[in-house]
Amino acid sequence: MSLYDKVFSHNKEWVQKQLDIDPTYFSEMAKNQAPDFLYIGCSDSRVSPDAFMGIKPGDVFIHRNIANLVPNNDISSLAVLQYAVESLRVKHVIVCGHYGCGGVKASVSHDDYGYMNTWLRNIQDVYRIHRDELDAIEDSEERHRRLVELNVREQCLNVMKLSFVQKRLFESQDIKVHGWVYDLSNGQLTDTKVSLADLEPNLNIYRFNDAALTSL
Ligand SMILES: [Zn+2]
Repeated sequence: MSLYDKVFSHNKEWVQKQLDIDPTYFSEMAKNQAPDFLYIGCSDSRVSPDAFMGIKPGDVFIHRNIANLVPNNDISSLAVLQYAVESLRVKHVIVCGHYGCGGVKASVSHDDYGYMNTWLRNIQDVYRIHRDELDAIEDSEERHRRLVELNVREQCLNVMKLSFVQKRLFESQDIKVHGWVYDLSNGQLTDTKVSLADLEPNLNIYRFNDAALTSL
């Protein structure tokens, strides 16, 4: 049986197994979603948040793209963010990069990746911002790992730049932004401890109440 066909036989077995455990599993699941987490990660097939986070359906709202980017003009990731933050009221936004990321590696090569060149320019900007630190690292693997970490940090900053995220960060103070790195070679997940205080000087913080607006 091909892997393709196995998907459908697995699905039949999985549905039956879930119903045997709980006959209301799907009918309850269909009613609502109230995830605590928004996870923004890389599309890499080896990076599976379901597996390494131990999550089940309904726990995490997920957005994935090449190299876990949140560009300022990317309607797809911004729409996901706004819906998760304003409507689902997630408590944690996670940007998760991974060592060994092909997108991050491609961004610093001189190869032509066609349409992807434009997307990867976002990481080239991260490199430019941190050029002094990165160029000082002689070992290419270490330099790659540091770029992965800095890319996560910059994407967290892009998340925090959004007015609807700032509203939750500074007004209701009921949301946190986290930068994680997953290591493909050993399965370990690290919280890089992105700090709001650290990033705040780089943010244009919006004013939300009417009194503040009329004083502009
Ligand atoms: Zn990747």
